[in-house]
Amino acid sequence: MPLTRWSRGRVTLLGDAAHAMVPALGQGANTAFEDAGELAQLLARQPGVEEALARYDTSRIYRTQIIHARSALQGSRYYEPDVEKFVRGVLEQANADQTAFEDWLYSYTPPVP
Ligand SMILES: Cc1cc2nc3c(=O)[nH]c(=O)nc-3n(C[C@H](O)[C@H](O)[C@H](O)COP(=O)(O)OP(=O)(O)OC[C@H]3O[C@@H](n4cnc5c(N)ncnc54)[C@H](O)[C@@H]3O)c2cc1C
Repeated sequence: MPLTRWSRGRVTLLGDAAHAMVPALGQGANTAFEDAGELAQLLARQPGVEEALARYDTSRIYRTQIIHARSALQGSRYYEPDVEKFVRGVLEQANADQTAFEDWLYSYTPPVP
């Protein structure tokens, strides 16, 4: 889930610390540079650090959330269609009730090589 706030007081985040995303779109470094560029401009032009950071959050968070979401969608497409079959296969075991899951977990015997 993307962060909804990056700044508090005189402290803020940028780049992956603010919006780590899967590298499917090749936009992680790009958006980090955009963050840095906008932050520098705002710090130079706003009367105080806190005002600059409030505007920085407003300007950057929505845009990077969209890229973050698009990147996640694009990343999931790389694995289709087999990933859905795989997930369905493992989910049944992973979702078993606690007793059944522990029986499965602790009764493991490694295959004889
Ligand atoms: C496989 C892969 C492919 C990618 N391909 C692309 C691409 O094609 N295009 C693109 O735009 N992006 C791509 N990215 C994403 C991109 O690499 C990142 O989004 C980008 O590097 C983020 O920059 P950053 O400065 O926020 O973080 P980082 O590049 O991670 O920099 C953080 C720095 O802080 C340092 N650090 C950490 N902890 C401390 C500490 N306690 N004290 C001091 N220093 C510390 C780290 O050593 C690091 O140097 C890819 C990522 C991956 C994993």
